[in-house]
Amino acid sequence: MSRVFNFSAGPAMLPVEVLEEAAAEMMDYQGSGQSVMEMSHRSKVYDQIIKEAEADLREIMNIPDNYKVLFLQGGASQFFAEVPMNMMKNKKAGYVITGQWAKKAYQEAKIYGEAVELASSADETFSYIPDCSDLPITDDMDYVYICENNTIYGTKFKTLPNTKGKDLVSDISSCFLSEPIDVSKYAVVYGGVQKNVGPAGAVIAIIREDLITDECLPGTPTMLKWKTQADNDSLYNTPPCYTIYICGKVFKWIKKQGGLEAVKANNEKKAKILYDFLDESKMFRGTVRKEDRSLMNVPFVTGNEELDAKFVKEATAAGFVNLKGHRTVGGMRASIYNAMPIEGVEKLVEFMKKFEEENA
Ligand SMILES: *Cc1c(COP(=O)(O)O)cnc(C)c1O
Repeated sequence: MSRVFNFSAGPAMLPVEVLEEAAAEMMDYQGSGQSVMEMSHRSKVYDQIIKEAEADLREIMNIPDNYKVLFLQGGASQFFAEVPMNMMKNKKAGYVITGQWAKKAYQEAKIYGEAVELASSADETFSYIPDCSDLPITDDMDYVYICENNTIYGTKFKTLPNTKGKDLVSDISSCFLSEPIDVSKYAVVYGGVQKNVGPAGAVIAIIREDLITDECLPGTPTMLKWKTQADNDSLYNTPPCYTIYICGKVFKWIKKQGGLEAVKANNEKKAKILYDFLDESKMFRGTVRKEDRSLMNVPFVTGNEELDAKFVKEATAAGFVNLKGHRTVGGMRASIYNAMPIEGVEKLVEFMKKFEEENA
């Protein structure tokens, strides 16, 4: 067996230990005589899997008791609609536009009410986080929305915006469990799990209890009402059973690493190796303002499209895969989520150095 270093933005690498455990349990999950894939979501054994996953997540993230944890389907993209459907009582909300995912959420919200652009970094291809200390937030806004880590552009909010007392909704898809966060500062944090938490198929939403009410916008489908999901402990209908099971294993893996403080330290170490090289290289350079750099997604370019393409091709052949940048940025992007081992980043940098020498 030979495994590549996979720098994909998502779905992305999972910890080898988690994959090995899942493989060992594939035919017979803990004496049940079945794979988790084959199991009723109403069975006792599955109930324990989902309950334990939630309990472990609550422990790792230190989630306060007045927040619900929901395991949902439809991807982060469907959640873009769920936010206004469940939260737009005044039919008005503010959005900070820091990239494509924030923009898509903003455009989706416009279907349901007045979505106001509070700030944007579109003027410089989303290569920075705009100043959010004094946003034009008005009293009638139901919430303020951000995309905390911008997967495509490689920026991250290092401080949360001043929401002037309004509820903060944050898409943390690509920084989920990459470092500790203070859940109590948010009304809602959510993310698709396929970036840093598990296989595709689930969204985890952490929602302050008072926001879970019957008062959704008229026409909100039953499935998309948070109340439906909360009242049924995410088991209103068949959940993405296998995905949740793997997420649960990742939570235990994080606990074994020493929790999110330890995960963060490791992520900082990995990111530093790559950013330090980008800062000293004469061929490669990062595309993001230093103070806004993401620990998870690192876009970089040579400034020459042909050279970029040559690099991606040779890197792929050498076992560093999915390094091609997003079509809107070009160049390269290395996504170095929790499961990317430090050797993956060290070896990538070695490879980049060699490429630079050979092509100088
Ligand atoms: C990938 C991603 C999305 C979209 O996720 P889907 O689950 O494919 O809908 C949304 N927001 C961010 C920040 C992402 O990285």
